[in-house]
Amino acid sequence: MDAILKQALASLASSPVLWDCPLRDYTSFAIGGPATALIVVEELAELQRLLVFFGEHKIQWRIIGKGTNLLVSDAGFAGVILLLGKGFGALHRIVRGNTVKNDDVVIQAGAACSLARLGGWCVDQGLSGLEFIAGIPGTIGGAVIMNAGAWGRELADVIVSVTVVTSSGQVCTLSRSELKFGYRIWHDHEHAAEEWVLIGVELQGVVADQNQIRSLCQAYHQKRQIKQPKGVPNAGSFFKNPQGDAAGRLIEVSGLKGLRVGGAMVSPVHANFLVNSGGATAANVLELMEKVQVKVQTDSGIVLEPEVHFL
Ligand SMILES: Cc1cc2nc3c(=O)[nH]c(=O)nc-3n(C[C@H](O)[C@H](O)[C@H](O)COP(=O)(O)OP(=O)(O)OC[C@H]3O[C@@H](n4cnc5c(N)ncnc54)[C@H](O)[C@@H]3O)c2cc1C
Repeated sequence: MDAILKQALASLASSPVLWDCPLRDYTSFAIGGPATALIVVEELAELQRLLVFFGEHKIQWRIIGKGTNLLVSDAGFAGVILLLGKGFGALHRIVRGNTVKNDDVVIQAGAACSLARLGGWCVDQGLSGLEFIAGIPGTIGGAVIMNAGAWGRELADVIVSVTVVTSSGQVCTLSRSELKFGYRIWHDHEHAAEEWVLIGVELQGVVADQNQIRSLCQAYHQKRQIKQPKGVPNAGSFFKNPQGDAAGRLIEVSGLKGLRVGGAMVSPVHANFLVNSGGATAANVLELMEKVQVKVQTDSGIVLEPEVHFL
């Protein structure tokens, strides 16, 4: 990006542009080279201005949440990384219609809201339906893109509508019936990573007993504490579970727990977690991923597909 373009970009952003920004600081894997620029966007008009500017000047861009499901290349990203700031993190409880029925409670969440804050807020509000997100890191925006889920539930079960901003700056709200989700995927977004920014979502909540909601969340938290590696950077489950089986089980029976490539390792605690045990590069993780895929396919005939997104 030349100096004139850099100056023009800086004038459009409300916060200082971070040039040559190391993306390892923005991912839970703690891996990744620099982005040409990183901008924290605080309001809709700013986001619209930036997207139009990127289109006019053919600048590559990508939006990320908390980077908890992301492997960023060692070379980084030749373009602008956008992050949604606090201005996109509001939570509201909406009651629709004249009669207040249990199932009429809709939760309006800004895409930047963390799942932790959303989950805690639902407990405070006595709203059930989202307990399954307890302990999943990341933002609700990233969770919608991933159709994140746990314990047999997923975001698609509770989405009422989503609001996106297109690359031309248009704001569109799409209702659940217009959206296609699959296991850990929002199909409509699959080939649209540089076409939309998700800015908000409406979710269905059900009024319920606060103590029951709280204890279910705590139970889910505890299960995670026991099952998942602690204190080592990772991106959660690395592979999608194949139908009717668990990727972790297949990797474990192939004897791959503890396998290493450089600083990347198959977690000895949970085989579907590839962890950065210290100084891992993206190349290390990719090589380890391939080794796991080859061995599991040889042993079981099953091809493991990554769940994490690559940048
Ligand atoms: C310890 C650990 C446990 C985990 N457990 C689970 C689990 O149980 N279940 C589960 O499903 N996942 C799990 N994950 C994965 C991850 O936390 C979720 O997928 C999370 O919802 C991702 O949110 P994020 O904000 O970090 O998204 P990111 O990783 O930042 O982004 C994910 C994708 O969404 C895109 N994106 C993000 N925000 C937007 C936006 N506003 N508009 C458009 N595109 C966007 C990014 O470009 C990227 O392609 C776990 C991860 C960790 C580290």
